[in-house]
Amino acid sequence: LIILALESSCDETSAAVLKNGREVLSNIVSSQIDLHKKFGGVVPEVASRKHVENISYVIDEALDKANVSFKDIDLIGVTYGPGLVGALLVGLSTAKALAYSLDKPLVGVNHIEGHIYANFIEHKNLEPPFICLIVSGGHTHLVYMKDYGVYEVLGKTRDDAAGEAFDKVARAIGLGYPGGPIIDKLSKKGNKNAINFPRTYLENDSLDFSFSGLKSAVLNYLNNSKMKGISIIKEDVAASFQQAVIDVLVDKTILAAKRCGVDTIVIAGGVAANSGLRQLLKERTEKNNFKLMFPPISLCTDNAAMIGCAAYYDYINGYSADMYLNAIPNLKIGQKYERI
Ligand code: ATP
Ligand code: MG
Ligand code: FE
Repeated sequence: LIILALESSCDETSAAVLKNGREVLSNIVSSQIDLHKKFGGVVPEVASRKHVENISYVIDEALDKANVSFKDIDLIGVTYGPGLVGALLVGLSTAKALAYSLDKPLVGVNHIEGHIYANFIEHKNLEPPFICLIVSGGHTHLVYMKDYGVYEVLGKTRDDAAGEAFDKVARAIGLGYPGGPIIDKLSKKGNKNAINFPRTYLENDSLDFSFSGLKSAVLNYLNNSKMKGISIIKEDVAASFQQAVIDVLVDKTILAAKRCGVDTIVIAGGVAANSGLRQLLKERTEKNNFKLMFPPISLCTDNAAMIGCAAYYDYINGYSADMYLNAIPNLKIGQKYERI
């Protein structure tokens, strides 16, 4: 089964070709980061327009690199949510046009579920059940993946996503966009115990997250320092902030795995690229006898290969869409396509 997958939910235009779900023949990602940098974040209208300009080239390159043509494609997979509606519609309309003209099945994929599937590409023997910590630009979820397509959301953020907190704090320190990778790099040179930023655990045993209080604490620290005329050490602020985020992420992930009685923990999403998070999780999973898996950095951030992998498993489990498939900006994990 040869799959062509498209992803355009945010600021990456991507197309990939896969064979039977886990074998990636090509994965072309055209990032718009440089375009949005001057605005300090993704501008939705600009993103949609750039997707329109790029998508045909990205698809051509993906087919080329995989050494296949349209007639070899058996299945079209596409992200239909969550994400920016205008951006989603570009990939979705393209996918529908292709599925219709090639007369091949169409599968609508949930982008956040897609992030989890990046792990199946990297780890050929990985099978559910496991606990997945999904930490991305717009989402922070602890998910119990019981089987393919079967998810229980154990907890999620009540305000900012982890990646969003990284991006906002980086902007406040004046580090540029996107902030996650820059804070990660700076942290290595800083003292993580320099500033005692708050860790928000919420109610006892809660697996939900909250990062807006931490973000405010960092902003207050920066403002206070400025008012008092004290110069800040960016490396220390970055390292102390990052540690406050990952302490909570790791504690709750371990708690979730213990509670569900699984032996495997996986991480996914852009923030799963964070070296501090990977390191602390490695230590804590070893100590608690859990297996830990994560995707390579290239599969942590947005890409169509993960969407193709999810499309494959959705399809063989009986889920496909039709020409009524529409973009759903707030699509929930586990929500299945229904013709309305
Ligand atoms: P979503 O998947 O929730 O719709 P998104 O697709 O924009 O959002 P991703 O592409 O998964 O998010 O991830 C981007 C986020 O990951 C950004 O917030 C970025 O700062 C963060 N990020 C990337 N690399 C790192 C890193 N090394 N450390 C921390 N954060 C990182
Ligand atoms: Mg992105
Ligand atoms: Fe994403």
